Amino acid sequence: MSDSILKNRFGEGAATAIPSDAPLAEKPGHKLRTSNNIVDRKTLAEVGGDQQVDSKELQVLSGQDIQFVEEAGQVGIIRLDRSWNKDGNANCPNMFTGPTVRTERERFRFDGHKLMYHLDRIALWEKGEKFAPVHIDMGLTKFCNTACLYCYAVVQNMTQGVMIQRDALLRYIEDCGKLGVRSIGFIGDGEPTLNPALYDATVLARKLGIDTAMATNGLLFDMDRAHDMLRDMTWIRFNLSAGDSEGFQRVHQSKGKNFDLLVEKIKTLVEIKKKHNYSCTLGLQMVLIPECYDQVLKEAELGARLGVDYFVIKHCSDSEYKEIGIDYKDYLRIEDVLKEAEKFSTDNYVVQVKWDKIKAGTESPLYKDGFRKYDVCYGTPFVLQMSGNGKVYPCGPFFNKERFYIGDIHEQSFFDMVMGDRYWSVHRDVTMSVDVHKDCAIGCRQDYVNKFLWDLKNPPEHINFV
Ligand code: SF4
Repeated sequence: MSDSILKNRFGEGAATAIPSDAPLAEKPGHKLRTSNNIVDRKTLAEVGGDQQVDSKELQVLSGQDIQFVEEAGQVGIIRLDRSWNKDGNANCPNMFTGPTVRTERERFRFDGHKLMYHLDRIALWEKGEKFAPVHIDMGLTKFCNTACLYCYAVVQNMTQGVMIQRDALLRYIEDCGKLGVRSIGFIGDGEPTLNPALYDATVLARKLGIDTAMATNGLLFDMDRAHDMLRDMTWIRFNLSAGDSEGFQRVHQSKGKNFDLLVEKIKTLVEIKKKHNYSCTLGLQMVLIPECYDQVLKEAELGARLGVDYFVIKHCSDSEYKEIGIDYKDYLRIEDVLKEAEKFSTDNYVVQVKWDKIKAGTESPLYKDGFRKYDVCYGTPFVLQMSGNGKVYPCGPFFNKERFYIGDIHEQSFFDMVMGDRYWSVHRDVTMSVDVHKDCAIGCRQDYVNKFLWDLKNPPEHINFV
C-alpha cells in the first residue's frame, strides 16, 4: 500500500492508501488524473482462475475509511475521506478506487416543480394562445371537521355545509378531460372527504385519463371506497402534524382518540395497497409551526412504522396580512432536528423537508430575506386553483377577491370558462398588476413554477452558450 499523504488542490490531505491485499492494475489508467494506484476490478473479481476474491473480506487498514460498493455484479472500493466535509460522511471526489458513487433517483419532487415535463403548454403560452391548466388544486368543501392551528383556510371565510354539488363536480371533471387538464388535486379550503361526491369524481377522472390526488385529515375517509381510491388516485396525503396523541390534540385541536383512529386507517390502507399491488402513493405531511417542533422526530418514526411512502415537512403558508403569525426565521432554530428527521429515509420511505420554502426567511433558490427571486407571477394559467364552493380564481391566496374572480362551475361550463375572455383577462391582470413581493403570501403553490417561468422570460446574455 501507499502511505503517502498528498495535498489536493484545495490543500486538503489526500490519503491514497488502499488495502495492501487489493489487487492493483498494472497500468493504472487514471494515475495521472488522481495520482492514485487503481484497483484492477477485473482482477479483483477473478484472481487465479476459479478463485474468487471477496472484496468485502479485505482487511481495512487502520486509518482508512473504505466502503465497498456493488455495481453490475462487481464489488469496488470507494475511499471515504471524512475530513472532506464537516458532516464527516461525504465521499472524497476523484479519490475512489472502484465504481464511483451513484446519484440516487429522486423519487418525489416535493421541493420543486415539474413544469419542464409539459413543454407543449409552455410553447402555447409563449405564443400567447389559450391552453388548459396542467394542474388544478381545488377544494371540494368549505368546512372541516378539525381546527388545525396552522390552517390558512380559516382566514378565508369557511362556511359549514358549503360544498361543490355533485352534478357540477362531475360535469367539471368531464370538461377537464375535454380540455386536457393533466391532474387535479383535491387540496385546499375544506376537508375533501366531507363531500360525498369525492369518490365518484375520482373514479370518473381516472376513466378520462386525469390523475387525481387528495390531501385529507383522513378521519372521515370512507373505508368502503378504499379500493376505488387506492386504484384510481395517484397519491393520498394525510395532513398530520403530530407523532403522538398529545401532539395531535394540541396541533389539530381534535380528540386524542382520533389520533388512534387515523393511525389505524392509514395502517389498513397501507395493507390494502400492498396486498392488491395498487400504485397509489401514501404519505404524511407536517405543516411546521412551533407547536409541533417536538413532534417532528416522532412523526418521522411513525411514518416508518406505518409503512407509508413518505413524510414531508413543509412551511406554514401565512396570509399576506400575516394572520397566522408565522416567523419564518424561527424555523432555523430546529434545522438540526429537521435534518435528523431526514435520516429516517430508506429505499422505501422518503423523509424530506421543503428546504427552499422553510428557508424563505434567509436565502434559498426561491427567496431572499422573505422576498421572492422573481417579480411577476406567470404561473397561474399552468397551476390553477378553485375554492371549495366551486368558484374559480387564479390562485388560493386570492380566493374571495372579487377582482380576480373568474367564474363558478355551478353556473358555467369549465370548458367555456377556460376558452373565454374573463379567464384570460384575470390571468393577465395578475401578471400586470400584482406585486408578488407585497400582495402575495409567502410560499404560494405557484412559487416554483413562477421562478422557472420568470427565468424563461428573463434570459441572461449569450443563451446559445448553453
Ligand atoms: S405569486 Fe401571488 S398572485 Fe401569484 S400565485 Fe402566488 S399568491 Fe397568487
